[in-house]
Amino acid sequence: MAESVHNSLSILGIPVNIFDSFDDVVQWIADRITSRQPTFCVAINPEKVCRAEHDPRLSQVLHAAHLRICDGVGISLASRLLYRKRLARCTGVDLFLKLLHLSEQRRWKVFLLGASPESNEAACRVLEQNFPDLRIAGSQHGYFEGAAEVVQKINDSGADLLFVAMGSPRQEFWISEHMPRLNTCFCMGVGGSLDVVSGATQRAPYLWRRTGTEWLFRLLVQPSRIRRQSALLVFTFDVLKAMARHSSVPVAR
Ligand code: UDP
Repeated sequence: MAESVHNSLSILGIPVNIFDSFDDVVQWIADRITSRQPTFCVAINPEKVCRAEHDPRLSQVLHAAHLRICDGVGISLASRLLYRKRLARCTGVDLFLKLLHLSEQRRWKVFLLGASPESNEAACRVLEQNFPDLRIAGSQHGYFEGAAEVVQKINDSGADLLFVAMGSPRQEFWISEHMPRLNTCFCMGVGGSLDVVSGATQRAPYLWRRTGTEWLFRLLVQPSRIRRQSALLVFTFDVLKAMARHSSVPVAR
């Protein structure tokens, strides 16, 4: 996969691209899609950073992506503590919805892969209602066997953008493995976003999102995420350790 062409800084060894605003991220992606440059976008959060520390395959996939966005308060806070640099927060679900809006305006076709059959279908219906001019070229739930057929289905659909909602890191591995055979020029993992759109899970209300406590809301709604959320504690501890080690850390690439 081609190297990222935008400046980044390293959060515990994982590069995160530097943008001043959410709109700058969207503009950068739009330019890439317009010029048909293949782009794999990953939303970086503390959970992925911690996991990548012990999972060389994930680390390699995150390094190889073309765009790594700052998915929320954990990464944004780490960049302020480590570099005194404010990274624009660009959550995966907000970017997903914004790119659907842009696709509607620019007539780009999208393919929605992932979630349960019921949730995938319901999400497509909701999106058709909310984005009446959106061209949903195709969809496929995330519990399939045989990736080759799915790759074929995506290519046959003529989609320009592919959103994969199969949870992390499954979705990042899937994109990284199959993108070389895909004709879509933009691919991004969107985790539980189709469940949010379909109403199968509830997104944190605005105030929780605004104050950076969306993770706490998710934990309260789905206590089974306690193990995954514990990555936040590990992440905080590792960031404090890194701060103590280096009073100033050089900006990467
Ligand atoms: N999922 C899927 N295929 C699988 C396993 C999971 O499509 O083999 C879907 C699952 O139905 C859910 C999403 O992946 O819609 C994972 O959501 P989660 O909130 O766990 O994702 P996160 O954003 O936390 O990675």
